[in-house]
Amino acid sequence: MPRTPTPLKGKTAVITGGARGIGRIAALTLAESGANIALLDVIEDVKATAAEIAAKGVKAQGYLADVTHTEQVTGLFKEIQGTFGSVDVLVNNAGITRDAMLLRMSDEDWDKVLAINLRGAFVCLRAAARYMLKQQSGCIVNIASVVGVIGNAGQCNYSASKAGMIGLTKSAARELASRNIRVNAIAPGYVKTAMTDKLPEEAKAAMLKMIPLARYSEPQDIANAVLFLASDESSYITGHVLHVDGGMGM
Ligand code: NAD
Repeated sequence: MPRTPTPLKGKTAVITGGARGIGRIAALTLAESGANIALLDVIEDVKATAAEIAAKGVKAQGYLADVTHTEQVTGLFKEIQGTFGSVDVLVNNAGITRDAMLLRMSDEDWDKVLAINLRGAFVCLRAAARYMLKQQSGCIVNIASVVGVIGNAGQCNYSASKAGMIGLTKSAARELASRNIRVNAIAPGYVKTAMTDKLPEEAKAAMLKMIPLARYSEPQDIANAVLFLASDESSYITGHVLHVDGGMGM
């Protein structure tokens, strides 16, 4: 069978943190594959990004929402189901860093990172699963990180949140598999976005030395993996952590 250029035609994909960075490029990539797109983000840019996606000829809506607010998220998924007609793909991409060495890391920095990166992913996954279970199909893609696998000095909170996300991925995958819902994670290495722009030049140079492919990743490298895991091309894959890191984590 020849491959279709629009494998996600008619599907609805919800992308958290979709206003910019990896989330924005993933949303554009899924839209180019035919998906209608709902973006959730805490920054106003979410509206402009949704307009940019709608210009591709799919339905797109940007919602100002915080993934840590259970009621807000639950209400939004209900609204998305009503407006779009289904929830087929969830990309749990919203995430932050609050880096500090262990002894300088505050409880607030720990709690904030765990709340957004891990609890937020759980809240959205649970909200999406409600509709996916009813329709007996769905794909969830969690954006974890290589540091959730190998750790990183100065990122105890962040790496714990991403390791937690991998556990969440595997447990949810086991729980939902019998209902035709797949749950996978992507572990990116160093991706050129606002998140990494703010790192000191020495840290960026040190990171580059750790990458066997000897280049930083573009958001499109991650978006390509999102498309693969969100489409039927990966229909026999669940509970998997796909490393898209130039070899950093092997
Ligand atoms: P980014 O900062 O450009 O994008 C993150 C987005 O999440 C932003 O639009 C932000 O407004 C949104 N967000 C933050 N808090 C939110 C909340 N409470 N509710 C909803 N949205 C919220 O960063 P990015 O590099 O594009 O990162 C995207 C994901 O990829 C993150 O989960 C990050 O941890 C992960 N990741 C990034 C890298 C990297 O090198 N850039 C590497 C590995 C993993």
